[in-house]
Amino acid sequence: MTVTEVVSEIIEDVVEEFEFEEPSVAHIVPKDDIMNGYINGVPVLALCGTRFIPTRDPNKFPLCEGCKERLGELL
Ligand SMILES: [Zn+2]
Repeated sequence: MTVTEVVSEIIEDVVEEFEFEEPSVAHIVPKDDIMNGYINGVPVLALCGTRFIPTRDPNKFPLCEGCKERLGELL
């Protein structure tokens, strides 16, 4: 089994686990990651460490406090 296969298996597990999660805040996610999430329906990792599938319009949610703090540290 190749590393890629192992990783995609792990991702599939995560997808199942988070399938029904309804995010109530807008997380900050690196742009390339969020595009990949939208296109492939795979979970993305937000700055705060939350993993979720970006299927909704994040603009209608308040910005995640954890992500905001993390972004402040990075800037
Ligand atoms: Zn967040």
